[in-house]
Amino acid sequence: MNADLQRLIELEKIDREALRLTEEVASLPRRVAAIEAKLAEHKAAVEQAKARVKSNEASRRQNEAEIKAFQEKIAKYRSQSSSVKTNDEYRALMHEVEFAEKQISGCEDKILELMIGLENEEKALKVAEAELKTEAADVEKEKSEARVRTAEDEKLLAGLKGKRDELRAGVDYSALAHYDRVMRQRKSALAEARDQKCMACFVMVRPQIWQEIRTNEQIITCNSCGRILFFDPASEPAAPEPAKKKSKARAAEVETEAQQPEQESTPTQ
Ligand SMILES: [Zn+2]
Repeated sequence: MNADLQRLIELEKIDREALRLTEEVASLPRRVAAIEAKLAEHKAAVEQAKARVKSNEASRRQNEAEIKAFQEKIAKYRSQSSSVKTNDEYRALMHEVEFAEKQISGCEDKILELMIGLENEEKALKVAEAELKTEAADVEKEKSEARVRTAEDEKLLAGLKGKRDELRAGVDYSALAHYDRVMRQRKSALAEARDQKCMACFVMVRPQIWQEIRTNEQIITCNSCGRILFFDPASEPAAPEPAKKKSKARAAEVETEAQQPEQESTPTQ
């Protein structure tokens, strides 16, 4: 095989791996940020549950204070009732006592309701706290995994850079420039040629070119997508060659319509 072609095949593998690692390194802080946002939601849920328990307790204290105040009023009305002069005054006081008792009963109902509510609110708080604890542990685990992965990826990237520099130094300048240009534009710079087609854009190559590609002795680029073509004997189909006439006709078509690769993706077999 052509030495430059061999090096470019290896270089592309390294570049693709480096790209994957670089993207992974960039994605890790985003993943950590996403799980931290989830953690913040759990923290907020705990705070809300705590606030509900607190407000329940405050309502209960308020109702208890109201009961105490009404009880004091009742005691006052009863002591006043022994010194009233008329039946009307006495009835008015008793009416006040009755009203205060009704208020106390209402407060007691409310307290019972609050106590039942408190049980549920405390349960909800416990659930929220347990979820927060689990989530916090998960976040720590994810963070430390992200740190380890980032360090590993960066180490791998440093190793790849050395190999990459070495390979690039050995490739012919114009072949390398072509490789870089196609890599930039298409994210891959090489394509396997199989069944007389570029396997990246599926446009056919002329039979004569195909014979040259099969030797892997030259840098040959796809007329349609610009990728450097190579032949892998392992991909050679066991079936006999397709009808020569038809292939030639297709190849000729392709040659004239190389600017519209989409129209040339129909397989010929
Ligand atoms: Zn192509």
